[in-house]
Amino acid sequence: MPPPPTLTLDAAASPEANVLLTTMLHALQGALRAPAADDTALQAGLEQGLAAYDRYLAHVLAAHPMACRVGCTACCHDNPRGVTGVEIERLGRAVDALPDGPAIRARFATLAVLRTDPAGWRARHEPCPLLDAEGRCRAYALRPLACRAFVAATPAEWCAPTHPSYPERVNPHLDPPRIILQILQALSARRGLSVVTDLHTGMAAR
Ligand code: SF4
Ligand code: SF4
Repeated sequence: MPPPPTLTLDAAASPEANVLLTTMLHALQGALRAPAADDTALQAGLEQGLAAYDRYLAHVLAAHPMACRVGCTACCHDNPRGVTGVEIERLGRAVDALPDGPAIRARFATLAVLRTDPAGWRARHEPCPLLDAEGRCRAYALRPLACRAFVAATPAEWCAPTHPSYPERVNPHLDPPRIILQILQALSARRGLSVVTDLHTGMAAR
């Protein structure tokens, strides 16, 4: 088995990457400048900010191809952490619009309890309630930043906890700069939402 590649993410130094992250920053700052009760401004800021982040991600992945592909789901059997309240709220609306939304919510609540036992939790390898039978996210356009930023530099098979090379997998999180995460947290706090949580706990509490 070859050693995992060393990944140097130099994209933050690229002018195009900086433009895209600045666009994201400005979109979220716009939402923060709007009154707290202005849901239209908040949703527009999130929409534009995450669209800029997706373009940033595509730019980085063009220079640093990853193993990720459609239908590859081991990462969606983990529980994304570092999810802000406004992202949970947005995802919750998408779940509510699904015909089986109540069942999905109930499953999130069950998993939130199960994950309080960390040792048993990893062994269960539970799929996210939003995964469909083909391994696609049913709320892909509204998935949180933590889901978007999670990619693998090592072979996709290594992401499965049952694979012998699982401990050596390389998941270079492509999180945006801290200021952007802080704005998402501030937007959440002023709406009385959890500042940051894991996906299951956040969806169960909403
Ligand atoms: S992080 Fe791993 S499991 Fe998730 S899509 Fe990428 S290669 Fe597949
Ligand atoms: S919300 Fe979507 S992308 Fe995130 S873990 Fe669940 S299925 Fe995967």
